[in-house]
Parts: sequence; structure tokens; C-alpha cells
Amino acid sequence: MRLFTALVPPGEVLDEVERAITPFAGLAPGLRWSDRESWHITLAFFGEVPDHVVPELEVRLARAVARHQPLDLALSGFGAFSSVRRARVFWAGVSGDPLGPLADSVKAGARRAGAGQTDLKRFHPHLTLARGRAEQDLSPLVEALPELENLGWRAESVRLVRSHLGARVRYESLAEWALTPSRRG
Ligand code: ATP
Ligand code: MG
Repeated sequence: MRLFTALVPPGEVLDEVERAITPFAGLAPGLRWSDRESWHITLAFFGEVPDHVVPELEVRLARAVARHQPLDLALSGFGAFSSVRRARVFWAGVSGDPLGPLADSVKAGARRAGAGQTDLKRFHPHLTLARGRAEQDLSPLVEALPELENLGWRAESVRLVRSHLGARVRYESLAEWALTPSRRG
């Protein structure tokens, strides 16, 4: 099955993003907006994982996640891959505590469980909002959008998500593990 791990911001944060972008969506007619219920920040992408590996994968991921503390994060700014002028993926950026160490632990745990690692690109945390079939210049949209304000939250858990590809991708949350608060608070 096709699996990845993700952080999901709380509903209030997503509400704020939705409120910010909705009035401007018409500025990029070539984009297909993803459903708000599917919004997430990918930590690590595993691709196709054989069914028999999944139980061990879950054990390793639970252990990896528990070794890390909750993260203070914020959504800040909009951008696009590969660039705003040649965009296929439009996203909200993630700032705050670095996600790299947690992502690295999760990937190492998955490797030990025997799950593949297909994310070779440099890790650039983001929340995908829309995709285009062809590259397009999103400058008009990005320049019109307001600043995202006060969009911080404390990420306290990590999800394992199954992706069902199709005409419209569907995500299914399989497990969720809490990050471990430091005893010093
Ligand atoms: P679709 O592929 O139909 O456009 P999707 O990209 O949302 O939908 P998946 O391809 O299953 O669905 O990807 C699930 C998540 O993993 C997404 O956040 C996606 O950006 C990320 N992802 C997919 N492939 C990779 C990869 N090779 N490296 C890093 N992240 C990836
Ligand atoms: Mg994809």
C-alpha cells in the first residue's frame, strides 16, 4: 500500500488558510485545489510498502515519533514548486521548529522496518494547496494573497497515512502517535 507520514495542523489554522485563499482562487484558473480535508505536511514518503512490512513499520514509527518533542510550527507565506513563475504545486510554507530531525528519525525507522525510501528530493516542508497540470506563472495569485497571520500551533502527533490514488486522491489515516513532551515543560 502507498504510505506516508504527515503532520496535520488543527482545524482553526486550516480555516484561516482557507479564508485567506478563497477570495483569490480565481486568479489561477489552471489550478486544481485540493480538498481541505486532505491538507497535510508530509514528513516522509514511503511509496508502495508490502502489506507484511506494515506491522513492523508501525512499531518503528511509533518508537521514532516518541523520541521527539512536540514542535512549535506556523504556516507562513505561499510559494510554489518548482518556482512561482513555473508552478505546478502551490503551497503554504512551514516555519518554526525544524522538522528535519523528526523526519530523519521517521525515515531511519522505516528503513529498518524494510520500507522503501522514495523521497530523494531535499526535504522542504510545505502544505500543498493546489496543483496544476501544466507549469504556470502564479505571480498574480501570490502577489495578491494576504500575509498569513498568527497561524502558529503546537504539533503534538504524527500520522501514518495511506494514499489511495485515483481520479481524486483519497487519504486514509492508519495510525497516529504522540510526540513526547519534555519533562522540563
Ligand atoms: P497525486 O499523486 O494523485 O497528485 P498526492 O501527491 O497528494 O496525489 P501521493 O502521490 O500519494 O498523493 O503523495 C502523498 C504525499 O506524499 C503528498 O504530500 C506528496 O506530496 C508526497 N509525496 C509523494 N511522492 C513523493 C516523493 N517522491 N517524495 C516526497 N514526497 C512525496
Ligand atoms: Mg503524488
